Amino acid sequence: MKVCKFGGSSVADAAQVTKIIDIILADPDRRIVVVSAPGKRNSADTKVTDMLIKLASASLSGEETESQLMAIVDRYAEIQRDLNLPPEVVKEIERDLRDRLAGDKSHAGMYMDCLKAAGEDNSAKIVAQAFRARGANAVYVNPGEAGMYLSSDFGNAQLLEESYSLLAGSLLGRNELVIFPGFFGITKDGKIATFPRGGSDITGSILAAAVKADIYENFTDVDSVYPVDPRVVPDVKRGIPTMTYREMRELAYAGFGVFHDEAVRPVVKAGIPINVRNTNHPELPGTMIVQSRRVIAGGVVGIASDDGFCNLYVDKYMMNRAVGFVRRLLQILEECGVAYDHMPSGIDSVSVIIRTRNLNGETEKIVMDRIRNELHPDSVTLTRGYAMIMVVGEGLYYTVGMAARATRALAEAGVNIELMSQGSSEISIVFGIKAEQRNKAVRSLYNEFFNLK
Ligand code: ASP
Repeated sequence: MKVCKFGGSSVADAAQVTKIIDIILADPDRRIVVVSAPGKRNSADTKVTDMLIKLASASLSGEETESQLMAIVDRYAEIQRDLNLPPEVVKEIERDLRDRLAGDKSHAGMYMDCLKAAGEDNSAKIVAQAFRARGANAVYVNPGEAGMYLSSDFGNAQLLEESYSLLAGSLLGRNELVIFPGFFGITKDGKIATFPRGGSDITGSILAAAVKADIYENFTDVDSVYPVDPRVVPDVKRGIPTMTYREMRELAYAGFGVFHDEAVRPVVKAGIPINVRNTNHPELPGTMIVQSRRVIAGGVVGIASDDGFCNLYVDKYMMNRAVGFVRRLLQILEECGVAYDHMPSGIDSVSVIIRTRNLNGETEKIVMDRIRNELHPDSVTLTRGYAMIMVVGEGLYYTVGMAARATRALAEAGVNIELMSQGSSEISIVFGIKAEQRNKAVRSLYNEFFNLK
């Protein structure tokens, strides 16, 4: 059995929905279809999820909502009209949105999630209708009813383990094609909660693991996963035919938008291969993501980069001998609810790399004051504007000279390495650089490892 997930651009309009139906009906093993909310129809367009977030914010602050609500209804009405579906489906969507809008506003995050989830939920309903109009035996399945139980971290929810068996019970042994909305589930007390943005990938991965699918097909709008962001290197030639879960996880974490980093784990645990494919070119094989692959010595699979990082630098003479210093530093961050991403250290200093969005102005002040007062460092500074670049490949760690090649490529591009870490993951080398040098750094690394000179 195959579980197929279709991203927002694959449900953006009627022509795209038709492609989904063709793809699914072409292969009888494709039994479970996970859909996103309608995405952009062109580069100037707005995703339905973004429209819903704006609508929820307007409603929370007591602003006018009618025109925004109708603009969302119109996105579905366009699909309904172009597919000649009965108009009732849009009436039902409008009713559903009005109900959610009139819901309980006592908890802003909870209210927001209820509205955000409407994008996928209504997408699945209309796609199920479209399948039926083509004569397929397809049903919409509600995640809450099917047992997709999540934690109540609204906007950032995580799956509760018991969901796997509940979902298997609801989805296996059905004759109908299942059309399942991505991105959300339900808390134990019956509230709608969403995964982080882009979370329909996570839903697909969970369902694939729950039903022990043979493969998880993730349909998007690119022919394959590319070794570098094509916006930075437009002439990137070849996509990646096969990569490992670990490589995908590292690349997805550092800005590879094709596949959500949190979506890797459920399928890894179940040993199910992921196939990233293009809805617009279903004849192409796409990229396979698997447990292991033949590793060519020195082979780099991809170069990822992301900005929006800051460096919390703490310096104290003889830090290496101060037992518990780093633990206390991390405890301060923990107590302030700040997650960190990397932590390269020296004998007298440590850098903690944090995503800037995890550290708002107020928290920053508390963290800095506590470090000064409790740890008495020689200095502590917080510098924003960092980008992290990751060179990723299985076997990288064991191949002599890889770090040298990478640092030489950065030097040739005139990029100063602010910090570097190669170590625990064994499959990546991470460089911290100034954000404004990010693109030229990535281009130079790409030329070094892929444009074989
Ligand atoms: N629609 C949601 C978002 O835009 C989830 C998804 O598309 O995966 O983030």
